[in-house]
Amino acid sequence: AAKGGGRGRFRFYSSDLHQAAEDRRALEEDLRDALARGQMELSYQPVVHSQSNMVTGVEALVRWLHPERGIISPSMFIPIAEEANLIWPLGEWVLRKACEDAARWPGGLRVAVNVSPIQFANENLPKIVANALAATGLSPDRLELEITESVFLGDSAETARMFKALKGLGVRLALDDFGTGYSSLGYLQSAPFDKIKIDQSFVRGATEKGSRNAAIIAAIVALAEALDMETTAEGIESLDQLDLIRKLGVSHVQGYVYSKPVADGELVEHAEAGSWTIKPSGPAKQRND
Ligand code: C2E
Ligand code: MG
Ligand code: MG
Ligand code: MG
Repeated sequence: AAKGGGRGRFRFYSSDLHQAAEDRRALEEDLRDALARGQMELSYQPVVHSQSNMVTGVEALVRWLHPERGIISPSMFIPIAEEANLIWPLGEWVLRKACEDAARWPGGLRVAVNVSPIQFANENLPKIVANALAATGLSPDRLELEITESVFLGDSAETARMFKALKGLGVRLALDDFGTGYSSLGYLQSAPFDKIKIDQSFVRGATEKGSRNAAIIAAIVALAEALDMETTAEGIESLDQLDLIRKLGVSHVQGYVYSKPVADGELVEHAEAGSWTIKPSGPAKQRND
């Protein structure tokens, strides 16, 4: 325990750090076997057209059902997978499973898959995407790859080649978490995105008085429209936020106000019923994610 300061305090932090490192190592070890043991699962969150309430697609979000720790969030284990060289098998599994599921959905729902910058930096990515499409029979225009701004930190000639190869497959590309990375707007000129996803951090607080977030969102919408890209606002939780987002002209919405991520089976039921709309509802019903 940290009594006083000096050496005691040092020892406290040092053993704390030690514990954290041990925890992480244990998690990394478990992660190595998680795929083979069938502990990974995909959840799908509806993406809704903001004016019509029609579901146009879903985003695949991976969950780890750990036998002792319960459900572990991807924001916890994806960074570990990236560092431990496990993102490749994991990313390939996610891609294959999402395409496999989507190929069965009626109504041509689109599926969005998150692609780690580490995957993006590997020249085999287009082949792996092509294989997933071929093996599952999913039409390429029903697959959307979500990429973050950090890919633009890499070699720009290689990045451009990767974009060209992926677009050549006929898949859609979305720029995820827009505005939170090292955004140099220059890259938008040449990068062939179909959609910009406006990060939750801009939505949060946007309805508060004096907030500048609404102005920023409006500017992003204008930019996207000028470049002929769709927009999706992430993390919309309340009816007030939805109202504002609609007024600002954001074309699509993803958030608890419409639906939390759901299991594949639940999607199939809805999609089978024909064109699928969701009635938005405020905070009371959520938080059982
Ligand atoms: P993301 O791609 O930006 O995904 C959106 C996150 O926001 C998801 O968190 C989703 O559950 C959450 N979310 C959706 N609506 C709301 C809302 O109304 N309120 C709040 N507070 N949150 C909402 P999740 O599933 O925990 O995923 C976190 C991140 O992990 C993702 O952020 C993505 O970067 C990464 N991730 C998830 N699945 C994969 C995957 O298969 N591969 C890779 N490489 N990364 C993944
Ligand atoms: Mg995403
Ligand atoms: Mg995002
Ligand atoms: Mg995010």
